Amino acid sequence: MGLLLIALLFLFFLAVYLLVFVRYPYAIYSRTFALGLTISALILSFLFLCGLLAIVFTILKKRTFMPFKWFMDKTLLLLYPIVLQIGRFMHITQEKIQRSFIEVNNQLVSARSVEVKASELLLILPHCLQNDSCTYKISHDVENCRRCGDCQMADILQFTSERGIRVVVATGGTLARRAVERHRPRTVVAVACERDLSSGVLDTFPLPVVGVINERPQGPCYNTRVDLKNLQDVLDQLSLKPKEVT
Ligand code: SF4
Repeated sequence: MGLLLIALLFLFFLAVYLLVFVRYPYAIYSRTFALGLTISALILSFLFLCGLLAIVFTILKKRTFMPFKWFMDKTLLLLYPIVLQIGRFMHITQEKIQRSFIEVNNQLVSARSVEVKASELLLILPHCLQNDSCTYKISHDVENCRRCGDCQMADILQFTSERGIRVVVATGGTLARRAVERHRPRTVVAVACERDLSSGVLDTFPLPVVGVINERPQGPCYNTRVDLKNLQDVLDQLSLKPKEVT
């Protein structure tokens, strides 16, 4: 959020600089062009300021102010790439920024009080959650898992089948996007690393996607794990209980 504010200030000071530049009598570029840039930068600054304030209020109040949703969406989508560049310049790791982005995104989805039927929910898991020595092709069909217990797939399939939640295992971002297109869920819960989650959230926008960051005790993309209690809580929070289904 701090970097979002810095990005906003950067835009605002750019507008002020251009304003001064426009007044300079020996400006190289035409005044009209510079004036157009100034007005654009000021409009964007105003838009992002509204979006930033709406994000902060949404997180604090834990509810979405629908008239401001458009501002929030545009602020996150358009400022995020700038935030990544500012973070790089300030020597803040991309992973840290991506993690913050996922947290903010999750809180915004939570504030929308999304609740859908279990059948309208899609859980996307990364292929690296499967035990590396397992030979069953669960990326083709999760039912190929023999639930031997050598990895967390057995537990995950146990509680998702009890709840009637569809599960896919994706070997990459493209397959994850294809799964979303094929199943057309109303909400997605995705388990992955910070980078894949942040790009997935942006790619599937405006579909609500809750990101659960995986654990990598043996390094990236190899025998990864997920906090099962947290995952169950997220799924339970999003899916309607059977008696509530209409
Ligand atoms: S639970 Fe066993 S069968 Fe299923 S994916 Fe993991 S190792 Fe393979």
